[in-house]
Amino acid sequence: MGEYLVRCLGCGRVHPPRALACQNDGSLLRTEYSSKRLTLRSDLPGLWKFYDWLPVKEPLHGSGSAPVTYRSEGLARAVGLENLWISFSGYWPERGAEMTTCSFKDLEAPPTVERMMEARDGRVLVVASAGNTARAFARAASFVDLPLILVVPKGGLHRLWIDGDLSDSVLVVSMKGDYTDAIDLADRLEAHPRFVGEGGARNVARRDGMGVVVLDAALSMEALPEHYFQAIGSGTGGIAAWEASLRLIGDGRFGQRLPRLHLAQNVPCAPVYAAWRGSGLEMGRCPEGMYDDVLYNRKPPYTVRGGVREALEETAGEVYGVTNQEAEEAQRIFEESEDIDILPAAAVAVAALLRAARSGAVGKGDLTLLNITGGGVSRAKEELQMTYLKCDIEAGPEALTSESGSASYDGLLVEIDDILGRRG
Ligand SMILES: *Cc1c(COP(=O)(O)O)cnc(C)c1O
Repeated sequence: MGEYLVRCLGCGRVHPPRALACQNDGSLLRTEYSSKRLTLRSDLPGLWKFYDWLPVKEPLHGSGSAPVTYRSEGLARAVGLENLWISFSGYWPERGAEMTTCSFKDLEAPPTVERMMEARDGRVLVVASAGNTARAFARAASFVDLPLILVVPKGGLHRLWIDGDLSDSVLVVSMKGDYTDAIDLADRLEAHPRFVGEGGARNVARRDGMGVVVLDAALSMEALPEHYFQAIGSGTGGIAAWEASLRLIGDGRFGQRLPRLHLAQNVPCAPVYAAWRGSGLEMGRCPEGMYDDVLYNRKPPYTVRGGVREALEETAGEVYGVTNQEAEEAQRIFEESEDIDILPAAAVAVAALLRAARSGAVGKGDLTLLNITGGGVSRAKEELQMTYLKCDIEAGPEALTSESGSASYDGLLVEIDDILGRRG
């Protein structure tokens, strides 16, 4: 059970289970599970039911809610589709959705943290995020007291809350500047042998965790969908949906046709959309002014072997450039017709669905899956006791450049050591 190989999509060579890229050609690696047929582990909670196709040895204590898949009535009527299904990642107890950090980053973080626990190599995990990813990692790490450094742009701190207790093992570095500066600082920390990054799209635990959306949907729908809609930044979720579909085709019970990927970005901060169109976009001040800046990623894994372009080509996919106005309208239509609040990012996917339904790119009777990647924040905040994360260390641009002095990179390392040491 849970046995797998990690193989390069370029040269085909088998790699160590925790490798993040092929040493020969830089291609993405993909897991190959020994069970080709998906057996649900009903004895395990949440997403761990899909244990056979997750690259972990055991479930992570206290974490890992699954998304719920249901057949839409309200939105289906509003857009004129007869076979629309929704995968909901977030907090919506009436439907059985209990992801309290309210986004599908909660599918990526628990398997990633579990693998860190299994590696036991003493390195400290570093994650740069201003929101959904940080919440998901803070919560997963807190349950098992895994040392974690969150690098957060100063303006994003208010988005960091989790239900329940925050572990002392989680350290928050607040970076003066924007998200890009936070990523640069995290990159610099990750290059240090004592720290390790989670690898983003390159991490098979993240991708296979997100793949659970399609696994759960296929079990509910009793078939692979013909269309899959998702809002993307990096596009990792799109790659994951493609890979999960390939596994389900291999299983044999869910049909033999890959779902078409309909991936949506928010223009103008939409590098995948621009690359797919072969057009330029003026992205100078991005992510400023975005409908949801969680959808901005400067370096999406687009051209790499096994990446977003290949996923789109293999699935006859499409990329949509969604404006703020379209997203706003879509959010209103969704919330009125389905009666739950959704994250702005998810509204970008709804806008793409509206467009595809209007243009006929999706037929009335087509089996369609809409991935609502986050929602229920208002519900969760009303009902749950939230702990807000506080800044432990303030860093500024000096931490990216200078070599000495208390505000420098070296000074930052000393401060991190000091705090982690005191907290044991
Ligand atoms: C991260 C995120 C996305 C984009 O995911 P990809 O990694 O680009 O697939 C979409 N919606 C929400 C709510 C997110 O948190």
